[in-house]
Amino acid sequence: MKVETPQKKEIAVTEHEKHPKATKQEIIKKFPVKVNLENYEEAYANFDWADAKKELSYFAGGKINAAYNAVDRHMHDGRRNKVALYCIDAKNKLEKYTFQDIYHLSNRMGNALKDLGVKKGDRVFVFLPRVLELYVATIGIAKVGGVVGPLFSAFGPDALRDRLQDSQAKVLITTPELKGKIDGIKDQLPDLEYVVVVGADQSKLGPGELSFDVLMNEASPELKCEQLDPEHPLYLLYTSGTTGKPKGVLHVHNDIIGHHMTSKWVLDLRDDDVYWCTADPGWVTGTVYGIFGPWSNGASVVTYEGRFDAQSWYEVIDRMNVTVWYTAPTALRMLMKAGDEIVYQNSLNSLRHILSVGEPLNPEVVRWGMKVYGLPIHDNWWQTETGMQLIANLPCMPIKPGSMGKPLPGIEASVVDDEGNPVEPGQLGRLVVRPGWPSMLREVWRNEEKFNEYFRIKGWYFSGDNAWIDEEGYFWFVGRADDVINTAGHRVGPFEVESALVEHPAVAEAGVIGKPDKERGEIIKAFVVLANGFSESEELIVQIKEHTKKNLAAHAYPREIEIRDTLPKTRSGKIMRRLLKAWELGLPTGDTSSLEED
Ligand code: ATP
Ligand code: MG
Repeated sequence: MKVETPQKKEIAVTEHEKHPKATKQEIIKKFPVKVNLENYEEAYANFDWADAKKELSYFAGGKINAAYNAVDRHMHDGRRNKVALYCIDAKNKLEKYTFQDIYHLSNRMGNALKDLGVKKGDRVFVFLPRVLELYVATIGIAKVGGVVGPLFSAFGPDALRDRLQDSQAKVLITTPELKGKIDGIKDQLPDLEYVVVVGADQSKLGPGELSFDVLMNEASPELKCEQLDPEHPLYLLYTSGTTGKPKGVLHVHNDIIGHHMTSKWVLDLRDDDVYWCTADPGWVTGTVYGIFGPWSNGASVVTYEGRFDAQSWYEVIDRMNVTVWYTAPTALRMLMKAGDEIVYQNSLNSLRHILSVGEPLNPEVVRWGMKVYGLPIHDNWWQTETGMQLIANLPCMPIKPGSMGKPLPGIEASVVDDEGNPVEPGQLGRLVVRPGWPSMLREVWRNEEKFNEYFRIKGWYFSGDNAWIDEEGYFWFVGRADDVINTAGHRVGPFEVESALVEHPAVAEAGVIGKPDKERGEIIKAFVVLANGFSESEELIVQIKEHTKKNLAAHAYPREIEIRDTLPKTRSGKIMRRLLKAWELGLPTGDTSSLEED
């Protein structure tokens, strides 16, 4: 596949670049020379996954348990009384739990599940808001060898039925408020034996429903964590559904090696950090980097039950003195939309490291982050299927805004043509990875054919994303393979057009698709949400088009722009271009179970 790739010159932004918010002294304070991974090249050349195993705790005979590594081992390494979890509830009440608290509570959970007859390999789904019980349940299920099924609390009955039916879930843990979404579909879930309800009065529950609190009180706080084969399943998580029907991705206990190492290198977690991952554990980021990875490193984790709004989020950072903050482009774009003033009204001085994942991070957002937070935002790439970060901007490397960074030590990633042959630097192709990293998916739930599709060519894992690599080995995301637009013989990725659009002050968000066109094959159509203070006019649309033409390329500007109040997004905040396209062309919308409701 011979394709054109825009080769825009990017200026490297380094940690030491001048910016208005921080003085030089502050920068030095925020960036002590020592980061967990100091020399990328050296580590990349010498690293072996076998060495990483030494950082984890194994039982005799090579058995392991990810939950033991995340919690139990801190009973003996001096972290017993360290805060594991800061919970801020929806009313802003703060509770703290030490590793010892989580240890005992998750032991009780494990015992309670055993009493219910949960056996190794049974699927236990967690349908909870971001409260203590979510964390306790996840660890408790893993301790007894059950398969954790994380579910986002905003899922509606259809999304729940699809996932619980497909996975043949045996137990579901939820709240009285959320239980209403299950009541109407229960008769369609023949495998679901128990619904365990947090904070419910047993006398008010129906058949097959049990009070979480009663179960926990009756269960012993002492439990011997199951010693499991490293290939024993740990969690089953459904993908975001951005490109189609969500796939059930199965991961194993051995994944903890990847969780541990990447949390150490990419999140750069250290003992004195207060870490906040804004992703809900219903998504892979919230499970891997909100629970297992940081806890395996003994970090204190913050969880916030409330919804997004700029001031509340900044308050969480200041109140908790968050040092490491892992978030997503959609949130960062909304924060940018909320403006600079609100940033300056808060301190945010505790922050030392910011990261982003889930969607392409527009360069404009990185530059804005430098300006207002005085810190670069570290983009990194991975998928539900990859189970851990694979490509990242590490703290030790200069950031190129718009790039996802470089493959981590132990990861061979490449960009190849349709036959699996690596393309030249600067050429667009398919982003692939050589199988063998510890957290790789082990199964698409009961769908071997789908699983095999990922590995169909020359032994590569095909990610389904398109990218290019620059001369210095940095990877640049172009779009989902299905989203690449072919206009008058040019191949254009939606991301670069969207990024050029959001550079215009009137544009808060943009979603770009290819629209069939007799003359050009496809034309580029952009759906745009305007920033505060701007209103739709012919003149403004022309201005935005001209801006994109000038800053990106004449062939890559959107010939059509439609202003919208919102863009369709998954509940995890990803723009659903396939819906924009289906609506535009009057085609069936396909699976919309992950669609966010306004
Ligand atoms: P589905 O597979 O159901 O269509 P999804 O691919 O959005 O949904 P996830 O596994 O949650 O489900 O997301 C992984 C995808 O998110 C990647 O394949 C990529 O397209 C996108 N992504 C993640 N991180 C980045 C990043 N840093 N830059 C660009 N894209 C990213
Ligand atoms: Mg995907």
